[in-house]
Amino acid sequence: MVRIYPGFSEIIRSGALGALLAALFFLLSASAYGTSPDKRDGVYHPVAKGVTLYRISQAYKVPIAKLMEVNQLSSPSALRVGQKLFIPGAKAVLPVEPYASLSPSEKKKLEQSLNTGAPIPPPAEGSRERRDSEKPPWRGRGKELDIIWPIQGKINSPFGPRGKRHHDGIDIDSPSYQEVKAAMDGEVILARRTRTGYGKVVILRHDQGFSTIYGHLNVIMVKEGEAVRQGQSIGGVGSTGRSTGPHLHFELRHKGRPLDPLPLLPPTIEELLEKASKK
Ligand SMILES: [Zn+2]
Repeated sequence: MVRIYPGFSEIIRSGALGALLAALFFLLSASAYGTSPDKRDGVYHPVAKGVTLYRISQAYKVPIAKLMEVNQLSSPSALRVGQKLFIPGAKAVLPVEPYASLSPSEKKKLEQSLNTGAPIPPPAEGSRERRDSEKPPWRGRGKELDIIWPIQGKINSPFGPRGKRHHDGIDIDSPSYQEVKAAMDGEVILARRTRTGYGKVVILRHDQGFSTIYGHLNVIMVKEGEAVRQGQSIGGVGSTGRSTGPHLHFELRHKGRPLDPLPLLPPTIEELLEKASKK
């Protein structure tokens, strides 16, 4: 038997449906008008050479997605030199640093740091800190990190010691070609096939000294120097480099040092369901 919301048939019979639809239409169109930017509240920022949408979003503390919406940009890299970008809520035009690409030696150092299964470094002399037990420094100070899962999938291998070595990220199981999303707004500092265990890799630089690394990709959809918004596809899951099957090696670093991303990532749907079922 099909259960119908009680009262629904009465609404149709009473002819109130037309009124209901009219009200709904009014609400929808009102909210559509509501999303159009109020051009009076904000400033126009002239785009200079080398400046990315990410840099502008950083300077004004406005998310990339919002700048894209308000300025009707098709992608975060669709900026033209001389374009006047509307910055909602800004009171004055602020200086914006242009994108600084890594120097060849910085790139080399970064690639050398890509080493799945790096040996566990001995704790520094007189230091009690251990790499895998470190708490992220910004936690407990009311600073939440705005980070999302790069893909959906089970964690095959967590962050931490793996035998005599240290796994600097988490491995997320996935079929090939699942699109990998940028975990945060940022800019691409490395996007290439490397000779490291990471294979084809994308590295993003974020706010507050963070970076994220996406390894073993089979396709790369972004270029070095580009701005990316959170949730934007940056590549596809693959099995390049030192890998036994398609999965994503995801790493979060703070000032170059790998951190366990799990405590910072939002709960998964499975975790939410489990929590709800225990109540
Ligand atoms: Zn891994």
